[in-house]
Amino acid sequence: MLFNNEFNNIKYDEPMKNHTSIKIGGKADIYMEPENIGELVRFIGCLKEKDIPYYLFGNGTNVLISDDGIRGAVIKIGEKIADVKVEKNTIIAESGALFSSISKLAAEHSLTGLEFANGIPGSVGGAISMNAGAYGMEVKDVVEEVEVLDSEMNTRTLNNKQMKFGYRKSIISKESYIVTTVFFNLKTGSYNDIKKLMTELNEKRQAKQPIEFPSAGSIFKRPEGYYAGKLIEDAGLKGMAIGDAEISNKHCGFIINKGSATSKDIYNLIVHIQKTIYERYGVKLETEVKLIGKFQ
Ligand SMILES: Cc1cc2nc3c(=O)[nH]c(=O)nc-3n(C[C@H](O)[C@H](O)[C@H](O)COP(=O)(O)OP(=O)(O)OC[C@H]3O[C@@H](n4cnc5c(N)ncnc54)[C@H](O)[C@@H]3O)c2cc1C
Repeated sequence: MLFNNEFNNIKYDEPMKNHTSIKIGGKADIYMEPENIGELVRFIGCLKEKDIPYYLFGNGTNVLISDDGIRGAVIKIGEKIADVKVEKNTIIAESGALFSSISKLAAEHSLTGLEFANGIPGSVGGAISMNAGAYGMEVKDVVEEVEVLDSEMNTRTLNNKQMKFGYRKSIISKESYIVTTVFFNLKTGSYNDIKKLMTELNEKRQAKQPIEFPSAGSIFKRPEGYYAGKLIEDAGLKGMAIGDAEISNKHCGFIINKGSATSKDIYNLIVHIQKTIYERYGVKLETEVKLIGKFQ
């Protein structure tokens, strides 16, 4: 044991399939869910002393972890660091809160701007890091400030511009910042209109996305001028499977786990899609999902 009772929520050889929405992933050497930011900082200090690499996780809905697992530590910022409060038109949320729960809270307070977040299954931290978005709206439209820890564990406050939001990216991963608290700036709206829009978007999502199967959401970023799902469908790849990994019949931008798919199955399908689409259309599909661990 590397840490003798120094931390409560620590596990060794933890199967990461228990912590990802696609229900796949080998064991992490160390898995830790800090109780609060102080403990997170202390834990990272210990890891640095021992020269152990670490990976930050939110809700694990945008990651594919290799079957060999993760050498080092996974730190999950989850429900233990998830306080939220509303102050006038601002929602202040700790990064472990679910992004969808912030959307519901906004609706309860007749605040508009976060309706799109209702069906996104990640955490607030993951949503900020990825600049998550849907139906023409994205995180960058509603964020006022973000509190982060930098690599020296100093707290910094970044405004919207400093966050350098782009398509499914922000400054967070580039600088290895850790999101701790987010200030969402919303507008007052009509409760009924907000609820109506949330219901409409939910219905669209249920009709178009294979949410009944484990997945990691859209596998590929949208290539400029195209839609990944449409290219994949046009190339005749709909429903193609390797093992239990299958290109969804409902939405070709999703790869679903039909039961016992491995990371290797998913990875091989990704590579096959990328090769086919490049050969047919000259378009390079880049993964939106983060690949963690060894795949080759
Ligand atoms: C069914 C389904 C539907 C989806 N629909 C959408 C959609 O409509 N729009 C969309 O944009 N995405 C969608 N996604 C993808 C995913 O939910 C989002 O990208 C989400 O924002 C990821 O959040 P997470 O907490 O799960 O992050 P994780 O998957 O845990 O991590 C993703 C990245 O964020 C980083 N990260 C997480 N927390 C923090 C933190 N506190 N500080 C710093 N970095 C952090 C991680 O290090 C990693 O690089 C969907 C996924 C699924 C499974």
